[in-house]
Amino acid sequence: MKRIEGFQNHDLQTICSHILAGEAFAEAVKLALRVRGESQQRLFEIARAARLQGFPDRRAEIRSVVEISNICKQRCNYCAIGCEDTQKYVISAQDLVEIASFLYRERGRRVLLLQSGENKDARFVANVVRACGEMKDKLPDLQLIGCIGNLSHAQYREFKQAGVDRYLLKIEASRPSLYESVKPNDRWSDRRRCLEDLAELGFRIGSGIIVGLPGQTEDDLVADLAFLSDLHLDMVSASVFIPGRNTFYEQMTPGDVETTLNFMALLRIKNPTALMPTTSSLEKLKADGQYLGLMAGANTVTIHDGTPPEFQQLFPIYDQKRFRPDDHHLRVIVERAGLRLVH
Ligand code: SF4
Repeated sequence: MKRIEGFQNHDLQTICSHILAGEAFAEAVKLALRVRGESQQRLFEIARAARLQGFPDRRAEIRSVVEISNICKQRCNYCAIGCEDTQKYVISAQDLVEIASFLYRERGRRVLLLQSGENKDARFVANVVRACGEMKDKLPDLQLIGCIGNLSHAQYREFKQAGVDRYLLKIEASRPSLYESVKPNDRWSDRRRCLEDLAELGFRIGSGIIVGLPGQTEDDLVADLAFLSDLHLDMVSASVFIPGRNTFYEQMTPGDVETTLNFMALLRIKNPTALMPTTSSLEKLKADGQYLGLMAGANTVTIHDGTPPEFQQLFPIYDQKRFRPDDHHLRVIVERAGLRLVH
């Protein structure tokens, strides 16, 4: 491994210069992932400077999330959604359009994330596509983000033709064997193919990883940073692993919040113009965690105000008791971080 010459005393600027130049990349990333205390604060300052370069107007995006359905054909080890005991639901196309109109008119939202368990079923996809088309007809300036997992090229094309602007497809782990150990019913090559299809169809794409997955090493994080950055994504993310109830990983150790924040800072430094969320999982593991995510370079917040209350407990990605930030909390943390919310 190439060494960093003359590196001393956690000189973060030097470490970050190496990361940007791709010189002694692995060593530099590992050093940056380990910094704590004052050095960590310096890393976050560099990340915020990168964000200011990419977003000189200091804007932070707020997205409403609608959890369309908890029917999922996968059964990922870290997620409780595929759990057979959970009561299943699907929000109808008509209800989806009404929810979008309500959020647009009453809450002022202009970005809507449509999330669901992975389900290629033709009728389900056709319903969501129809709802998206109607939303775009009624509310042309509403940005729609699809997040429905692996679909066929033809199905992605239908979403594109319906006016869906962006698509989120997290890679979770860039090492194929790690990906397939945490998502045993999926193949890494299929996920990669989906990312290629989305790019070919002209979506603005987002992807990301989970820091602290069982079996993940520091070398994996180095590779993940390179993988995500090389894709030149519009949206990047890193969430922290939570061993959720009713998951196969229930007894595992949670991911480390500080390492996750450092990884987010590195993602920001490598991707100054990408949108990056500060996730509720950070808040779940550490008080003020979501604010700290913004201080580490994030500039997007999501609010789960699009899922009807009766379905909210039925969509437990990492836990039934997940932290669900409200409007006030998000406004306060964005302001404290020196950013301004845009809809
Ligand atoms: S992480 Fe996504 S694909 Fe995996 S079980 Fe949960 S909802 Fe399904």
